[in-house]
Amino acid sequence: MFDLTGKVAIVTGGSRGIGRAVSETLARSGAHVVVNYAGNEAAARETVEKIHAAGGKADAKQFDVSDPAAVDAAISEVHKRLGRLDILVSNAGIAMDQLLLRVKPEEVERTFATNVSGAIWCAKSAMRIMMRQKTGRIIHLSSVVAESGNPGQAVYSASKAALIGLTKTLAREYASRGVTVNVVAPGFIETDMTSSLSDEAKKMILAQTPAGRVGRPEEIAAAVLYLASDEASYVTGQVLRVNGGMYV
Ligand code: NAP
Repeated sequence: MFDLTGKVAIVTGGSRGIGRAVSETLARSGAHVVVNYAGNEAAARETVEKIHAAGGKADAKQFDVSDPAAVDAAISEVHKRLGRLDILVSNAGIAMDQLLLRVKPEEVERTFATNVSGAIWCAKSAMRIMMRQKTGRIIHLSSVVAESGNPGQAVYSASKAALIGLTKTLAREYASRGVTVNVVAPGFIETDMTSSLSDEAKKMILAQTPAGRVGRPEEIAAAVLYLASDEASYVTGQVLRVNGGMYV
């Protein structure tokens, strides 16, 4: 089950946190994984080395998802070099948390350029290839707060909600071409992104989580693996919530 042998995957922000777990999981299932990163080359190298040590196939590729020319050049190069592109996981994301009245224009611009435009540019470049192949899987990493809202995360939650609209539209546009497009919406997961939260904020989040614990990156990766697999061929336009019951 969930055999990705012979498939090629790109994981944006695949070098750390949830993205790293996704990269490792897809590689363990047989895919050649291109681990994208923005600036932290050491983390990307470490992820690739871990995959190689486990007998998997991977390489690291730097590009900024918010730069459409860089995205297109990188995805074209991967296609040319590896001969196909089966799976795109748009995982790269940033959070600049702030109450609405303190939000600065540059924070809105940067968050949307990475979280929303980044996913659009990656999907656009990948879709051209996947349509010709007549098969493909695109998976967007949204968040529980896209649907539940969360004080202090107006900009982030708006950007994550945009990914749900993007996914539903792309699912309708490309289902007939054999490409599925879905969302995984994680709850509170232990990564660098959440490590800076105060103990008080963490306590509040846990109080709202029926599972009574934070999630692990591997638990998100398992959901991504399912949506990336042949077994999920009739699933498109869906939001798969992996949140310990935090939003049901
Ligand atoms: P993280 O630990 O902060 O890692 C972020 C990753 O994204 C890094 O690999 C980073 O690369 C990359 N990245 C950032 N900006 C980029 C850009 N412009 N171009 C290319 N890569 C870029 O984040 P995480 O917690 O694993 O979160 C991963 C995804 O899940 C995000 O979309 C996040 O919004 C979502 N999510 C997370 C949680 C959670 O609780 N952690 C909950 C819900 C949703 P560099 O290291 O090179 O900068």
